[in-house]
Amino acid sequence: MTDKVLALVTGATRGIGRAVAERLARTGHKVIGTATSESGAAAIREVLQAIDPANDGIVLNIADGVQTAEALKAFLDQHGTPEVVVNNAGITRDNLFLRMSDDEWEAVINTNLTGVFRVCKAMVKPMLKQKTGTIINISSIIGTTGNAGQANYAAAKAGLEGFTRSLAQEVASRNITVNCVAPGFIKTDMTDVLPEAQKEAILATVPSKRLGQAEEIAGTVAFLASSDAKYITGQTIHVNGGMN
Ligand code: NAP
Repeated sequence: MTDKVLALVTGATRGIGRAVAERLARTGHKVIGTATSESGAAAIREVLQAIDPANDGIVLNIADGVQTAEALKAFLDQHGTPEVVVNNAGITRDNLFLRMSDDEWEAVINTNLTGVFRVCKAMVKPMLKQKTGTIINISSIIGTTGNAGQANYAAAKAGLEGFTRSLAQEVASRNITVNCVAPGFIKTDMTDVLPEAQKEAILATVPSKRLGQAEEIAGTVAFLASSDAKYITGQTIHVNGGMN
């Protein structure tokens, strides 16, 4: 038994999700982090159990509706209803619009938007019964600004913010908050793969003149997960070094 607050973090193997999972695990949460593979789940399990053996890693592929429903049912059966759900998992399939294939469009919408819908489908009903909880969706500055080469990603993240505002209104009276954190450019695998010239062009648009650290997103997520944030819902908090 643990008196810690149960938190589910999707995409916890690396980058922002791993930083969020570790931060929550160090601040009074029992954290279940997800990975798309068994080896990824084992790796995040090892990281989180070094903090507290009650933490765990599980396999979850939010791009697959059937696997998501089964994995999250097993999660609920084993651990109960979470108070904190962080929808962090996400992908990019960048291409200029004229070259963007149906597959590139579908993959990003299916993972970054429909994937969050699927996780919320599984979690919201038990959370409503529990009458407390918070859902934190990781959006992106690109959902606000758009970005050449990222029409699919921008559409998914802008959609995620609209989804968040709507769901927040439906569940607010049951003491459940739903918010987005919208990072700017954060140093992770997702940005490491960008060509050097593109990274320099991005940095030129960041008033702080540096990429953000995953831990800086984790801090904002931890705040939204805390009791200090109980009157914040339906919002998008931007963490981006001053970009507009
Ligand atoms: P990352 O380093 O590429 O990590 C992505 C995570 O998502 C991994 O844990 C990955 O799991 C998981 N994932 C990918 N596809 C999945 C699927 N179908 N089902 C479940 N999990 C899946 O990404 P990141 O940079 O940390 O980004 C995390 C979130 O922040 C994303 O939503 C991203 O859009 C958003 N964001 C990032 C930045 C940035 O600058 N990095 C900026 C704005 C927003 P595996 O390891 O198992 O593949």
